[in-house]
Amino acid sequence: MRTIVEPKERIDTLWGIQRTDTAVIYRMMRYVIRVDHNGSVFLQNVITGQLVKLDQAEAELLEKLPATFTPEMEQLIEHQFIVPDDFDEHQRVVGIRSILRKLADKQEKPGINHITIFPTTACNARCYYCFEKGVKPETMTEQTANDVVEFLQKHSGGKKLWIRWFGGEPTVGADRISQICEGLHQREIDFSSKITTNGYLFDEKMVEKACSLWNLDSAMISVDGTRERYNRVKAYVNACDDPYEQVMNNIGLLLAHGVHVNLRMNFDKQNYLEFKEILEEAGNRFNGNPLLNVYVHQINGHYQNVDSSLIQGDEEWFSEMILELNNLSRSMGLLHKKSELPRLEYKWCIAARDDAVTILPQGQLVSCPERMNPDQYKGDLKHGVNNKDLICFWKQFADYERCWDCCLFPECVKILNCAGKDRCLYKLERLNQIKELVCNLADISADEQ
Ligand code: SF4
Ligand code: SF4
Repeated sequence: MRTIVEPKERIDTLWGIQRTDTAVIYRMMRYVIRVDHNGSVFLQNVITGQLVKLDQAEAELLEKLPATFTPEMEQLIEHQFIVPDDFDEHQRVVGIRSILRKLADKQEKPGINHITIFPTTACNARCYYCFEKGVKPETMTEQTANDVVEFLQKHSGGKKLWIRWFGGEPTVGADRISQICEGLHQREIDFSSKITTNGYLFDEKMVEKACSLWNLDSAMISVDGTRERYNRVKAYVNACDDPYEQVMNNIGLLLAHGVHVNLRMNFDKQNYLEFKEILEEAGNRFNGNPLLNVYVHQINGHYQNVDSSLIQGDEEWFSEMILELNNLSRSMGLLHKKSELPRLEYKWCIAARDDAVTILPQGQLVSCPERMNPDQYKGDLKHGVNNKDLICFWKQFADYERCWDCCLFPECVKILNCAGKDRCLYKLERLNQIKELVCNLADISADEQ
């Protein structure tokens, strides 16, 4: 066995070395991904993160499992690629996660530095699938924006801030964004920001400000299909003749100023066939700019067509489409976001983290940007985070039996109170990504030898 990627030290220490027992039957550990490439066998341990290339004898013994001990098994046993038949790796993962969470709670330096800010809940578009339907449009006042700066200075613990502007449509509250950023610059607080936006209100002036004042690193801009559908679905208030053209031009402006753009097509059964056209257009307009990624994301919820037919796909349809459409984008050189090999994760989402908070337009603090009801207020700008029950509410994790046998279980953390906890749409795509990564790393390691 030859190690290509070392295991993560901390997890490996907790996971430990497995001793050989010549009296038991061994089988493959459930959380191992096998990749066959150029006549060799590679194993990725999804708990420790270790990637190994097997020698001939080890590869052959895999075909004979389950089996009693043979000397070729030694290293595979030691690094827990194979385990005794009655071993419960699911419980081991649950146990290690629990230890890591307790250690993190004790060791983490205090300080909130991952902040989602709603300058406004108002929006200039009217997408039929918006999850914020019914939310009262409110824009932050100048006083609240000042309080945001005070809050960040007081609670960041001197750490660099990672800010995400969210809404509503955050650019509707662009003045408040600028005001908060000016305050941070004046106090010499280091920060970087990204924005989730429809991109319509950007212009040369705003893009310049975004770079020089907002420290904007990336923009996630969503579209709903090609020109005709986009203009119909977005249904902008006080729209110009062709909002689609305007947004495409603004994407060009952002890219020209060095801002990464993640162009996301929200899709369902009505529009998925238009993705290819979006890719062709992005390819022609932006000439393979490496700052641009184009990909799809499912529309959640249940919506009907004019003829009452359901336009939502089921989980299987969405999973297959996400894989197929994103692969198409990759093959056209329009999706090159880097991903990492999997390993055991124990936190994942901002709602469960003590170093993250979401600030609403009136200064209330919540955990999840998609849950803004008053019963979710866990504090405010003046008093900080002070609702212990809500902190615990967001630190409960789901543990579905249907996931126990999934090889991705160690990296897939599900929050019990997350609205999306029951969805599993990215498994096929993730497995595909991992296989590609393993093949690339195997090729690099072969070249180096
Ligand atoms: S949600 Fe999907 S990817 Fe995650 S562990 Fe469950 S089956 Fe696997
Ligand atoms: S919707 Fe779910 S995954 Fe997203 S922030 Fe909220 S809790 Fe986390």
